Amino acid sequence: MLVTTTDMLKSAQTNHYAVGAFNVENLEFVMAVVKAAEEKRAPVIMQTTPGTLKYASMEYFYGMVRAAAENASVPVALHLDHGSSFDLCMQAMHAGYTSVMIDGSHDPFEENIAKTEAVARVGAAMGIPVEAELGKVGGKEDDGPDSGQGNPFTDPDEAEEFVWRTGCTSLAIGVGTAHGVYHGTPHIEQDIVKAIAARVDVPLVLHGTSGVPDEQVREAIANGICKVNYATELRQVYTRGFMGYMAENPECFDPKKPATAGMAQITKLVGDHMENLGCAGRA
Ligand SMILES: [Zn+2]
Repeated sequence: MLVTTTDMLKSAQTNHYAVGAFNVENLEFVMAVVKAAEEKRAPVIMQTTPGTLKYASMEYFYGMVRAAAENASVPVALHLDHGSSFDLCMQAMHAGYTSVMIDGSHDPFEENIAKTEAVARVGAAMGIPVEAELGKVGGKEDDGPDSGQGNPFTDPDEAEEFVWRTGCTSLAIGVGTAHGVYHGTPHIEQDIVKAIAARVDVPLVLHGTSGVPDEQVREAIANGICKVNYATELRQVYTRGFMGYMAENPECFDPKKPATAGMAQITKLVGDHMENLGCAGRA
């Protein structure tokens, strides 16, 4: 069924594992991700960025994910990733999304607080969890400008004040990861994860995880990360599967065939991540 992320993340926090959050781009991504969740008996979060919502509306994604969730035997949540404004978050709640993120991380501290607090207040009234971000995840997020890699990290003191003042229900932190494709090996600042987890009681979220070595992700989970986002890798393997099929079958004009090859790649990738995150077998 379609559920909020509240119980999923609480259980992850209590039992020291993380729930995977996978960005979906179309129907095929939705079907491939939910298949992996069923195979691995894992709770799962599917999410869309504002950029993806320019391609197809919230109503489409809500319809597709709800259909997937109603037929699934594991809990499924639909989350707005990097909600860019109060209005967009309200639209997502209205459309049936069961979780939203308001991303004020590009704004000054006080503005981020004001923006987040406004969304969190509505979320609390409606029973919809609200993720916020403090500090910076590097790289190119969605279709915005590239903020580079190696950005300022989240300050644990600020994180404590931020959560207390905003009422956000989970927090994305800047600890060295970046969106998009890494140039070189990424490095998670584990001491910062630990320091923030010691100061705030809400589940912590890791963005920009595509390409981060599995051991580093597991260590970050042991240190307090409860939700781990993957977007770039899904796009890469889907396109690789699709193109691979077409290279071998250049005469094919049935889009279902290369799409099926792409979906198989996503299901494998997502299933492997679920094992590494520790959420496999938790549903
Ligand atoms: Zn992100």
